[in-house]
Amino acid sequence: MSENIQKKIEDLREELHQHNYNYYTLDEPTISDFEFDLKLKELQELEEKHPEFYDSNSPTSRVGGEITKNFPTVQHQFRMYSLDNSYDFNDLEDWEKRVQKALNEPVEFVAELKYDGASISILYENGKLKEAVTRGDGFQGDEITPNVKTISEIPMQLHGDYPDRFFIRGEIYLTRKNFDKINKRREEEGLDPFMNPRNTASGSLKIQDSAEVRKRGLSAVLYQYISSEFPAKTHWELLQKAKSWGFHISEQAKLCKTLDEVKAFITHWDTARHQLGFDIDGIVIKVNDLSQQRTLGYTAKSPRWAMAYKFKAEKVETELEKVTYQVGRTGAITPVANLKPVLLAGTVVKRASLHNEDIIKKLGLHEHDFVFVEKGGEIIPKIVGVNLEKRDPENPEIQYIKTCPECGTELVKIEDQAIHFCPNELHCPPQVVGRMIHYVSRKALNIENLGSETIEQLYREKLVENPADFYALTKEQLLPLERMAEKSAQNIISGIEKSKEIPFEKVLYGIGIKHVGETVAKKLAKNFESIDELKKATAAELIQVEDIGGKIAESIVAFFENSENQLMIERLKSYGVQLEKGESTNEVLSNVLENKTFLFTGKLSLFTRDDAEAMVEKHGGKNISAVSKNLNYLVVGEKAGSKLKKAQDIGIIEILDEQQFLDLLGTPS
Ligand code: AMP
Ligand code: ZN
Repeated sequence: MSENIQKKIEDLREELHQHNYNYYTLDEPTISDFEFDLKLKELQELEEKHPEFYDSNSPTSRVGGEITKNFPTVQHQFRMYSLDNSYDFNDLEDWEKRVQKALNEPVEFVAELKYDGASISILYENGKLKEAVTRGDGFQGDEITPNVKTISEIPMQLHGDYPDRFFIRGEIYLTRKNFDKINKRREEEGLDPFMNPRNTASGSLKIQDSAEVRKRGLSAVLYQYISSEFPAKTHWELLQKAKSWGFHISEQAKLCKTLDEVKAFITHWDTARHQLGFDIDGIVIKVNDLSQQRTLGYTAKSPRWAMAYKFKAEKVETELEKVTYQVGRTGAITPVANLKPVLLAGTVVKRASLHNEDIIKKLGLHEHDFVFVEKGGEIIPKIVGVNLEKRDPENPEIQYIKTCPECGTELVKIEDQAIHFCPNELHCPPQVVGRMIHYVSRKALNIENLGSETIEQLYREKLVENPADFYALTKEQLLPLERMAEKSAQNIISGIEKSKEIPFEKVLYGIGIKHVGETVAKKLAKNFESIDELKKATAAELIQVEDIGGKIAESIVAFFENSENQLMIERLKSYGVQLEKGESTNEVLSNVLENKTFLFTGKLSLFTRDDAEAMVEKHGGKNISAVSKNLNYLVVGEKAGSKLKKAQDIGIIEILDEQQFLDLLGTPS
């Protein structure tokens, strides 16, 4: 029986690896995405039921879920060099001359796109993905294997005649489409958008929960084979081999016989890059022959056999029509330059952010100035200068606004910040909406189906003005809204109803007290039994709580002093929202487990997993969700599987059975 299951699991893994290869490498899928997902799900369920057949390279590890608190530092066996830069064809010709002089024989080049992301070095052993490490300082980087495994384009199992052990290097990046998707979601959750795909890609690699990394939708391309021995004579052949083993290599890479061909490649991609679905910041040119590469060697910081050609940010001139001001959901004011439409880097640009008053002053901007607009790696174009020759001396200097364009309130500028704010938190329209969006967001009251657009509509229709108003909504009020079907109206109403079960700490975060983020809300909920207790606390008392400083304390006091907030709280209370701690689970029995972390696995027979975890907390310990070096004790029940194996591999984790766990507590069973 168990052999059958093992075989079934192994067959499914092999089949799914093959489909991944067909899809990502050959670009010739043989089954639909739907069928693929079904099979993956089947495998996932089998693996869950049979942890004894754990395999760190299973296609299911794509789905993520592993939590890493600290990424271990790993030395690079082969240093990760940077590249020398060139900015024009003269630089490039100089480089070619140096190469020619050193070699004194014909040289071929490979020209590749310079992907704008985060570089990665991945070790493969016996065809399996073993370890993935960031570039770091070139000598050592962070090991982020679980996160890299979530990227579909990186194979976990190789095909064909691959060498036993080698490193492959490449770039992890985000397509513009996925970058936009992430920002759209962030906006819906009331979070600030990310600046550019590159920083978002490298930031994503450092997320602790690999399931979250998976959701970012990262892409990868591999461009360098590294080992002490090479299974080919040229870089080009290595790329083709890597492809045959299942790696995603760049489709655009080109073998060039002469520098003129390289230049044509550069000229082509300098404009064609805007049609790519991702950002590149230049072209990388590499000497093709590996023995020539060896002869050329390295300088202190980069290979002599490679050169980066950096594209210039595109720059155009256009007229400033006017400066308008946007009020964000937190009340922050952003000045925006409205421009006479102009074509830049393949798109029509009509607006550019001016960020704040200081930037406008620095540019010395006058009304109707002719400005230079640039687009680099950033998505939003930037104004980088003014064409003074074209300035009409009649045009006055731009005067920053004094009052909020949305509500007329006088703006304030916080001392050490360049940004102006509208202080009218409770009645400035974008801020009112922002506060409600925050209230329903996932980490707060988590009211699904109630998106930012619906909230805006409800606000325009004067149906809601603060979070308490949600609870008075009826289905009949929702139905007349644009694009509101019976079903979605019902879902919204039930979502609102369900939010009454959300625990106190999340409500405390959701009501939007300035400076009270998730962590602070948790701390407050731990120290105050109810919102009424919190309301009574003075600033001096609040500061006594761990992690709460003067600024937060004052903001809490101010929040509760406001009569409108008081009214909102009373209304939330009357609707049954959790404004006090539920049944206390924080009862303390002892501190014998202080600073110790626990994880339970396998089938427990002396107690349930929930009870066990509660016991840990009552004795001052902490539960964590994955096996890592941070785990002190793994408590194993019957049929413990992968977690036990992993803990044994790590070596320093103490492994207990259920009775030994009880002994630790001094509790007689
Ligand atoms: P820089 O960061 O400007 O020194 O450029 C070097 C970086 O370019 C490397 O660390 C890689 O991350 C990146 N890169 C992007 N595409 C390529 C490519 N095709 N070949 C080599 N490096 C590349
Ligand atoms: Zn305002």
